[in-house]
Amino acid sequence: ESQRVYDDSGTKANLFATIGPDTEGGIVLSAHTDVVPVDGQEWDSDPFSVTMKRGRLYGRGTSDMKSFPALFLSMLPQFLTADLHIPVHLALSYDEEVGCLGAPQLIALIKSLGISPSAVIIGEPTEMKVINRHKGVFRFSTTANGLEAHSAYPDRGVSAIFHAADTIHFLNDLSKDLRTRADGIGSFDPPYHTLQVGTLSGGTAANIVPRKCTFGWEVRLIPGGDIHTLVLAPLEHYLDEEVRPLMHKISSHASIRTETVIQIPGLGPEEIPDAENLGRELSGDNGPTGAISFGTE
Ligand SMILES: [Zn+2]
Repeated sequence: ESQRVYDDSGTKANLFATIGPDTEGGIVLSAHTDVVPVDGQEWDSDPFSVTMKRGRLYGRGTSDMKSFPALFLSMLPQFLTADLHIPVHLALSYDEEVGCLGAPQLIALIKSLGISPSAVIIGEPTEMKVINRHKGVFRFSTTANGLEAHSAYPDRGVSAIFHAADTIHFLNDLSKDLRTRADGIGSFDPPYHTLQVGTLSGGTAANIVPRKCTFGWEVRLIPGGDIHTLVLAPLEHYLDEEVRPLMHKISSHASIRTETVIQIPGLGPEEIPDAENLGRELSGDNGPTGAISFGTE
């Protein structure tokens, strides 16, 4: 049994397939089929073909994460002839690297099929260590819309850049505060919530009060941290109290708004760690379970 779920353009698809009995539970082997682009990277071998050197495979996605689907696809003949008591589900997603865009539709499909797997193994590169938690990743874009004016009369305009800069300053202070707000799930590197601004653009010329300024920023939360309580609510409070009143004094059309670009919820350890135990059994990893600061599906 297999099904595809396409994206809106119809050019990318998730694939979901089930092998074995039509029963409750089962194990999902999950992989994303996309990789990051090679632009601007220095490669010693052709990234588009696999090269073996000193017992290692080199090529696009050999580590993250083409090898895992290659492995489980090579196991298909054995899965098909094995007398499986529970099903094995294969879940292949698109556009993980740009923000886990395919996975939500894949999850919706699994739900609509009435399937409730008991464990999911995601073959991200963790050097065969069992990882049972990762940080939540939240990406935002904030845009200030001000009012243009000649730079000789800045008080007649609303500087989108100054107001965006004040907001960035607030976020910088908030990022320091977030360091002290992490909860008890340890072994993350770094062991606290993080926030950083990654892009900034705005304005048209040095002698024009800028009409528009946009900055992109990201928050990574230890599982259990709530993005609204920790970040979005304090930000909106600050904007309502400190920024918007100043903007509106000059122009009622001026605004500053935040859009959510990516939302990947964090993963915390399970109370009954069936998946973790299975992973340990398969990999032989009997060390402490680990944590990663990147997000996955
Ligand atoms: Zn990956």
